[in-house]
Amino acid sequence: MREMRKTISTTADSFAFAGKRTWITGHRGMLGSALVRSFSNEGASLLLPSRDELDLVNQRAVYDWVDKNRPELVFHVGAKVGGIYANTSYPADFLHSNLMIQSNVIFAAYHFGVSKLVFVASNCVYPAITAQPISEDALMTGPLEDNIRSYAIGKIAGIEMCRAYRKQYGRNFISVIPPNLYGPGDNYHPQHGHVVAGILRRAHEAKLAGKKDLVVWGDGTPRREVLYVDDLADAMKCLMAVPVTDDLFNVGCGHDLSIAELASLIAEAIGFDGRIVYDKSKPNGTMKKLLDSSRIQTLGWRPKIDEKTGLQKAYNDFLARLETPEFGGRL
Ligand code: GDP
Repeated sequence: MREMRKTISTTADSFAFAGKRTWITGHRGMLGSALVRSFSNEGASLLLPSRDELDLVNQRAVYDWVDKNRPELVFHVGAKVGGIYANTSYPADFLHSNLMIQSNVIFAAYHFGVSKLVFVASNCVYPAITAQPISEDALMTGPLEDNIRSYAIGKIAGIEMCRAYRKQYGRNFISVIPPNLYGPGDNYHPQHGHVVAGILRRAHEAKLAGKKDLVVWGDGTPRREVLYVDDLADAMKCLMAVPVTDDLFNVGCGHDLSIAELASLIAEAIGFDGRIVYDKSKPNGTMKKLLDSSRIQTLGWRPKIDEKTGLQKAYNDFLARLETPEFGGRL
């Protein structure tokens, strides 16, 4: 038996996060804030330094902070992230920031005796063309999608670093690979965000302006698996709580949608009833990247939020944030 076959939700419930010094890097981002939300009832001792207190790119600052604060558990979420357009436009920035950040955090976690670390990678680490659904074993078996190569190589280096500390020093460092995430706290920048946020914002604006057309990038045929961010936070907590022998876990919902289908669902959630049209000057990217999540499913984890419910919740969050000065500044 490769893994414990208990249901991890049960095990996670009984795992004493309470009192454990738990560092969530990137806690103001979409996934980091979902993790913080998920800890609201557990009396955990969360370590959440602000960006002013701790710049993750700064090696000295990270070592000093970890030395002083001595986290026992680390959810390493903090990274420079963005959608297909941002990755195509700023490959050097993505590669530099992410290599620096993860190298600083993972080394400091090793050096100062963190007992378990969960690192978040991305489905773009897998080859652009590979058997579907994609199992963890497909890593580094073929060329990457060109548009997101820098980001992907940074994340592959992070996975390998966790593996290397596990192999050489027996450290309990593991990585998760999510599909496209969406939900509260998403980045609704018109160019830099991911697909759900980009379409959601344009659908909202089209509805308000009484436009007949909703513009969607690419030709609508690529397929994407999307996951509500709280479901990933739940999976990461479960993996933190359960002893596992594998070091890499896909965490997806198990099915994908064409971009055209996804756009229709988003339009429905928003109440936009015009036409969907395609801007073929924008890249399609990888045509399909459906994860095989059977490894984490053998531990009992399942996503709880379907797309229809999740998109409605995401839209409610978008509307609530539109009212805040903080969101106004990010538009
Ligand atoms: P990817 O999954 O790494 O490729 O990242 P994205 O979340 O950026 O998804 C890109 C896919 O969604 C491509 O097929 C795009 O053509 C399509 N897409 C459609 N509309 C949008 C949009 O408004 N923003 C983004 N980022 N992608 C879009």
